[in-house]
Amino acid sequence: MATKAQNKEYAKQVIEKLCSDDFAGRGYVNEGDKKASRFIAEIFRKNRLGSPTVDYYQTFGFPVVTFPGETFLNIDGVGLEAGREFIVNAGCPTIKGKFNVIYIDSATIDNSFAFETFTKKSLRKFFIVVTDIKGKTFLHPERAESILSNTIGAKGLIFNNQEKFTWSVSLQKEKFPIIYIQKNAIKHHMVELDINIESILINHQTQNVLGIVKGKLYPDSFVVITAHYDHLGKFGEAIFPGANDNASGIAMMLDLVGNIAKTPLDYSVMFIAFAGEEAGLLGSYYYTQNPSIALNKMALLLNLDLMATGDKGMTSVNATEFPDEFKLLRYINEQGNYLPNINSRGKAANSDHYYFTEAGVKSFFFYLMGNYSFYHDIDDKASAVTLSKYNESYQLIYDFINAYIKQSIENSIPNKK
Ligand SMILES: [Zn+2]
Repeated sequence: MATKAQNKEYAKQVIEKLCSDDFAGRGYVNEGDKKASRFIAEIFRKNRLGSPTVDYYQTFGFPVVTFPGETFLNIDGVGLEAGREFIVNAGCPTIKGKFNVIYIDSATIDNSFAFETFTKKSLRKFFIVVTDIKGKTFLHPERAESILSNTIGAKGLIFNNQEKFTWSVSLQKEKFPIIYIQKNAIKHHMVELDINIESILINHQTQNVLGIVKGKLYPDSFVVITAHYDHLGKFGEAIFPGANDNASGIAMMLDLVGNIAKTPLDYSVMFIAFAGEEAGLLGSYYYTQNPSIALNKMALLLNLDLMATGDKGMTSVNATEFPDEFKLLRYINEQGNYLPNINSRGKAANSDHYYFTEAGVKSFFFYLMGNYSFYHDIDDKASAVTLSKYNESYQLIYDFINAYIKQSIENSIPNKK
């Protein structure tokens, strides 16, 4: 149907660039997300995209907890590596000093005398290891809850035995620190920890990046391609590169930018690289509240997030909301023999398509599936991603956009200027 112009090598280079140390995990320290937005805007400029705003930027801000300084943890003389052997809750307050470690187990929760003895200790000097009670059922669940929500007033909580870490972003400081320890990091019964975590709540200014390739026939009808460029940033020296999440989606978007800028489509195509997705879909929400191109001009929106695999096919969120378009997507996939399968999923508030769907925009969120286990951790890095079905998924999406436009023109009267 269309020219084959997908470029896996280019995508790989973009991912390497966005995941390099210089971009600091595209978060909130070392201007990480700003550098990424500049990199994207520069590519929009080189491809002579139209800017619906000033210099492609749509700026906004939000509060966020950052860890630019020391992240030191030593347990009984064993120093732990930040990000690999331990992590703290994303809203962890600043904490410094030496504290005793105490364990609580299931038996203590359900034994009234033992529980009373435990809670009589002056717990504000202690970190409590709660691994043994999380997720269990008790005769007195309220006791377990008082420990896990720390209403008993301990210094902090510890989960050891963590298989893997899944970090996040917090817009506010939490009341107490929670330390997550990798299961092989400490094998002995812990007694004392020495900790120094500096967390700072900042008012972060950031920006969405928007660009337009004008349509040949119907410039006032838009297909919108979106992807978030932000990730989790840094925890001390530990960088969260976010290769699959979502340098991969940005790479495919920028590949589409180059291709569509060279050969414009019948509809206008708007590209939006969102900031603040990991902080709670903040960039896409901001856009829907402050649209520079009206939402009712958006004929179709495709959000790309987690696009580095594909061996197990693709999932389409909102497939059940827009069955006709989903049927077309599957038809294109079968015709081109691109991906092994396309899973249908209903509505989900799990990426930047969400607020557009809620505002009445016909939108899909596409993510690829495959053997890739890194998510919101320091191993989701450029060297780990294979882009095994990159060309196929690119071509599927490109063909789908064209087929959708063709069908819409045949079936209806678009907004002609
Ligand atoms: Zn993501």
